[in-house]
Amino acid sequence: MTKRDILDWLSTPEPERESLYRQADEVRRTHMGDAVHLRGIIEFSNVCANDCLYCGLRRSNVALRRYRMAPDEILDVARRMAEWGQMTVVLQSGESPSRAGDRALGELIARIKRETPLAVTVSVGNRPRGTYAYWRDCGMDRYLLRFETSDADLYRRLHDGGSLEERLACLESLRALGVQVGSGFMIGLPGEDLDRLAENIYLCAALDLDMIGIGPYIPNPDTPMGNEPNAWAAAPEMFFVAIAVLRLACPTAHIPATTAFDAVFPGRGRDLALQRGANVFMPNSTPGRYRRDYQLYPNKPCVDEESGDCAACVLLRLKAIGRTIAIGPGHSRRNTAWASTVADSRKKNPGPSNF
Ligand code: SAH
Ligand code: SF4
Repeated sequence: MTKRDILDWLSTPEPERESLYRQADEVRRTHMGDAVHLRGIIEFSNVCANDCLYCGLRRSNVALRRYRMAPDEILDVARRMAEWGQMTVVLQSGESPSRAGDRALGELIARIKRETPLAVTVSVGNRPRGTYAYWRDCGMDRYLLRFETSDADLYRRLHDGGSLEERLACLESLRALGVQVGSGFMIGLPGEDLDRLAENIYLCAALDLDMIGIGPYIPNPDTPMGNEPNAWAAAPEMFFVAIAVLRLACPTAHIPATTAFDAVFPGRGRDLALQRGANVFMPNSTPGRYRRDYQLYPNKPCVDEESGDCAACVLLRLKAIGRTIAIGPGHSRRNTAWASTVADSRKKNPGPSNF
């Protein structure tokens, strides 16, 4: 598969798009099956030291109340997840590194692994390799860190000084540690054309990722990019074309139907993504009272609902499109080498207490 192939698929003329979607759905069924993996996401803190130009949690945004959930409160949610079929908990927050905070997160991961049957995915941004290693030793199974864009200049402009190289080095460290790695990008950042979209998908394939999350970029009025429309605003079908082509390019990756699809196509965006290549759904498991303050972008669904509603709703949504719920943790399908790497490194390691 070459960049040219990706570009050709992305250029599928409108009358042939249904056929592209069907092909992607078929590849998804062949390699990943009909069962959808549920990964419940707990957005446990919106405190962020970064100032990413597009994101509502950026440190310069004073229009939200900052919160940090207590470990016991997070555990209470995690304990209830398995009964809803959510066999993975995704712990996500703003990026606010501190030694005490990073240690506390490690202790929380270890408690979740001890007290629940869940796989643990973490998504809290860039950290040194030693911190990732510590979390892995505590039991972290997977890590999500999008590269956001494959355009290094654009990356620098959007991330107050951070570089794409640094971000890719983090992914490299995680991979070397035997952690299952997820990355991805926002579709339609300003200036994106078909070539750039093809580059973004190509980078996902080249990184040989276990999980790939892509979702439309949504301008947030509480950020400096509030007036910068999505590059595909006039052709939002391109969001689905991107998912379908991503599936063709990466047949065995876990691909979530990301929440941002519902912000653009309310009530049906994620369902359509699941029918056009995706095989994972991430119900929002954040307690209702925090959701309003975790709006990375506007029109995020379910911000007014109480915890638990998303868990019930997703089951109905999946049933309506004829899909089942996966049993088991839904680990990487890429290869199984990581499992023995992690087991070995845990055996060799005296434990995480020396962080
Ligand atoms: N702080 C962590 C995790 C939270 S942000 C991190 O940055 O990795 C999670 C994801 O939200 C980001 O990777 C980004 O792709 C997405 N995001 C942020 N603002 C967005 C916006 N305006 N539109 C669409 N996605 C956005
Ligand atoms: Fe913070 Fe992540 Fe938002 Fe950047 S994208 S401002 S790191 S929460």
